[in-house]
Amino acid sequence: GDTLVAMRPVTQSRKLRDVCYEIRGPVLAEAKRLEDEGQRILKLNIGNPAPFGFEAPQDILVDVIRELPTAQGYSDSKGILSARRAVAQHYEVRDFPPVNVEDIYLGNGVSELIVMAMQGLLDNGDEVLLPAPDYPLWTAATSLAGGRPVHYVCDEQADWAPDVDDIASKITDRTRAIVVINPNNPTGAVYPRPVLEAITELARRHDLILMADEIYDKILFDGATHTSVAAVAPDLLCLTFNGLSKAYRVAGFRSGWLAITGPKEHARSYIEGLTILANMRLCANVPAQHAIQVALGGYQSINELILPGGRLLEQRNVAHELLNQIEGVSCTKPQGALYLFPRLDPDVYAVDDDEKFALDLLRDQKLLIVQGTGFNWPTPDHFRLVFLPRVEELEDAVGRIEKFLATHARR
Ligand code: PLP
Repeated sequence: GDTLVAMRPVTQSRKLRDVCYEIRGPVLAEAKRLEDEGQRILKLNIGNPAPFGFEAPQDILVDVIRELPTAQGYSDSKGILSARRAVAQHYEVRDFPPVNVEDIYLGNGVSELIVMAMQGLLDNGDEVLLPAPDYPLWTAATSLAGGRPVHYVCDEQADWAPDVDDIASKITDRTRAIVVINPNNPTGAVYPRPVLEAITELARRHDLILMADEIYDKILFDGATHTSVAAVAPDLLCLTFNGLSKAYRVAGFRSGWLAITGPKEHARSYIEGLTILANMRLCANVPAQHAIQVALGGYQSINELILPGGRLLEQRNVAHELLNQIEGVSCTKPQGALYLFPRLDPDVYAVDDDEKFALDLLRDQKLLIVQGTGFNWPTPDHFRLVFLPRVEELEDAVGRIEKFLATHARR
């Protein structure tokens, strides 16, 4: 007769044990469940511009469609030459160290390149200095590669600038790299040049690699100017990450690049490792590579959205102002990117578990945000929302937050 074989539990690899990415975690799963039940959820959880009516510049779409017939085959592992030349040229006209097309790698979004950069660099126990709060893929990619994420604090009192003394105090003989996310997700901070100089000086003194995630470098408000890490450290090995998801609103294309600058002779082995990883995934999505040249060389329509009268600027202003009007809520004014990271005063509101807070807010008000601890922020007193929805929706959302918070007040 049939024998019943007890099936061995299929468990995830140990590599994944410390990996978490809460932006698409349990709270989002609950939102999907509620939507399946027919409920309408107001989603302020993800920095995905196109669905909010921030559509890509038309010339990008036209070029990609035109190139589609020629984009059927694999490309070079690092990417098509015309796009890599466009990236090199883009940096040439900026205050950026020279970058050779051979040192530019195109990826399926910045995300893939972040994972490759960590996989190629880290041995078990190697440490990477990462901001808290951070864009959590950086922490997840460090852990997945066997590294140990070490978070340095960004100081809310100083408009969320990195605390350079804290970075210095956390450097050990296992530290390999310092990661800077500027403009920052989730805080919206744009770092002053002296702060970047102080960070790069630490890298210089302790022989560390710099990694700069600058995907929001063109989304700036109130006249803020962006300084690239590579520009203040042309004498150091620096990996700069950028792409088309945000300023060019084609997040779904999965199109990004990595540019390596500074001295490379001493890093030949690492760079060869990156090339092996690029070879292994064959190449990035080729049609999306064709978007890069036209995006960087074309009309920069993002400026219409962020300058006075621009839709994104107006939405930031409204959301920032309304949040600060709620008792016990304070929020720094983002100088860049797409997010607000308000603080809940623990003397006013009783929140010990901010994932539960996000879940309760979702169930109660049908509003989806991401809890601050999802960004490796250590205490349950912040959350992130995107200001991509139109003003009326943002007003509605902040109203729901206020109503919900009233049920969490200590008095
Ligand atoms: N880096 C930061 C700071 C981000 O906020 C995001 C997306 O939100 C990414 C990288 C991922 O970008 P991509 O769409 O290019 O993978």
